[in-house]
Amino acid sequence: LEDFTERVLSAYPSASFVVEPKIDGLSVSLEYRNGRLIRGSTRGNGDVGEEITENLKTIRSIPQRIPENISFLEVRGEVYMPRQVFLNLLKEQELKGEKTFKNPRNAAAGSLRQKDAKITEQRNLDIFVFNVQQYDGPEELVSHKHSIDYLAQLGFHTIPSCVPCKTIKECEAEIQKIGEERYALPFDIDGAVIKTDNLQFRRSLGSTAKFPRWAIAYKYPPEERQTKLLDVEIGVGRTGVLTPTAVFEPVLVAGSVIGRATLHNQDFINEKGIRIGDTITIRKAGDVIPEVVNVISHETEGEPFRIPDRCPSCGGPVTREPGEAAVRCNNPSCPAQLLRILIHFCSKAGMDIDGLGESVLELLLEQKLVQNPADIYNLTKEDLISLDRMGEKSASNLLTAIAKSKQNDLSMLLSAFGIRHVGDKAAKVLADSFGSMEALEQATAEEITAVDGFGEISARSVTEFFRRPETKELLSRLRAAGVNMTSKKKAPSDLRFAGKTFVITGTLSRYKRTEAQALIERHGGKCAGSVSRKTDYLLAGDAAGSKLEKAKTLGVPVLSEEEFEMLLK
Ligand code: ZN
Repeated sequence: LEDFTERVLSAYPSASFVVEPKIDGLSVSLEYRNGRLIRGSTRGNGDVGEEITENLKTIRSIPQRIPENISFLEVRGEVYMPRQVFLNLLKEQELKGEKTFKNPRNAAAGSLRQKDAKITEQRNLDIFVFNVQQYDGPEELVSHKHSIDYLAQLGFHTIPSCVPCKTIKECEAEIQKIGEERYALPFDIDGAVIKTDNLQFRRSLGSTAKFPRWAIAYKYPPEERQTKLLDVEIGVGRTGVLTPTAVFEPVLVAGSVIGRATLHNQDFINEKGIRIGDTITIRKAGDVIPEVVNVISHETEGEPFRIPDRCPSCGGPVTREPGEAAVRCNNPSCPAQLLRILIHFCSKAGMDIDGLGESVLELLLEQKLVQNPADIYNLTKEDLISLDRMGEKSASNLLTAIAKSKQNDLSMLLSAFGIRHVGDKAAKVLADSFGSMEALEQATAEEITAVDGFGEISARSVTEFFRRPETKELLSRLRAAGVNMTSKKKAPSDLRFAGKTFVITGTLSRYKRTEAQALIERHGGKCAGSVSRKTDYLLAGDAAGSKLEKAKTLGVPVLSEEEFEMLLK
């Protein structure tokens, strides 16, 4: 800060400054021509961003018209999501089992970049305009403060405080004041900005490639508080992972009272040496997620807290796999896992059953109406109406959504199972490659590793899943309920490669490897990872190496891409 003010003052002794809070949101540029908003875009550090005019128009505090005698105006602003709006959105997303935003800034950016401007509109975003970038109009703007007041007159939401400061002392005092008040504000700020006020001086000072020379940002350190660790609670996640949570005497940190923070795993606890009764330091990472920074003092002697070796939910033994930090309960009918499993099954990442979120599932579990994902398909209207706060209308909507999900593609069902190491993308690849649940049930780990992107660990995880008796039971019940078990992608009608095993090697020029593989599979063939006597064809692109050698030695026919295409025709 001192370097900055000195540099400016040595060039312009009469210069003065303004200090503003730096809003933690997404920077945008708004351009007006002859009084009309013609373009809105995201702005990074001087980079040209993507155009998002339609989305920006949904923000009510952005004027779409200004006086016509302003022939051109470009302003910069920060689009943000008010903290309360963010917290409400978080609750809603959790309820629906959707992926949640990490903090208000991510939420603002994610909402603004929606393809559908209607969604942006529902997110209640707001803007603070903080700079005039270009201006051609009737009034002569001499200072930054003057331009901000002028923008406010034109109807813009301008930066909430813009305080003129003559000296570095005054700047520092204002920075401190903003820092003290930051958590009382209804939105997040990530610092303060000190700007040269005189616009003429600004133009002469100019910019470097990325930053203006007439301004400097100040970042506040995260606020930290000390408190006492009262307890460590052990929760059980969907995949059976035992997660330790610190419960401490509630403290006000970064604008809200917190009393809990995750301790991640045993390694984290050991590294910090955490014991119940300790005095610990708490802060919020990115001002949002509570975290334990360190231990100040121990109250008792002894070893760090140990995660128990029995699952707190089902009492079963837990295991820690080599190379993994997580301790896990492997009992598939563990009740704590059941709710998580059901939430995932119904979520957007799974079967996408609208209206079947955490709160309804909790009730269904309590009433023992659902104890397994297959039970969802046996629910009746009477069952649903018997639930608290469930009206006739929502009950029939929910039944419709459940019935609709029966038609889902195999990839969604696979993803809904939440097989370890198989996310929604991998589920899609599996569904496309194997085409049906039956094919997958019979697949060997070797056949799965032949699929692009599948390693040994994920392949073994899939075969283990299908080998379990609970899985067999679940599948037979889902089948009986009429749940679709085939992939729409794969319709094997032309089976000219039936029984043939291909190996692909080298760089293909006409297809991606996965495309060639899909072509082979769609025609009934199989792909393997390595050449053996059982290989029928080697499809070789450019720079084929050892596999080509081996094929030649074994007398396996080698196909060029052209020859492969001939076979397909
Ligand atoms: Zn358990």
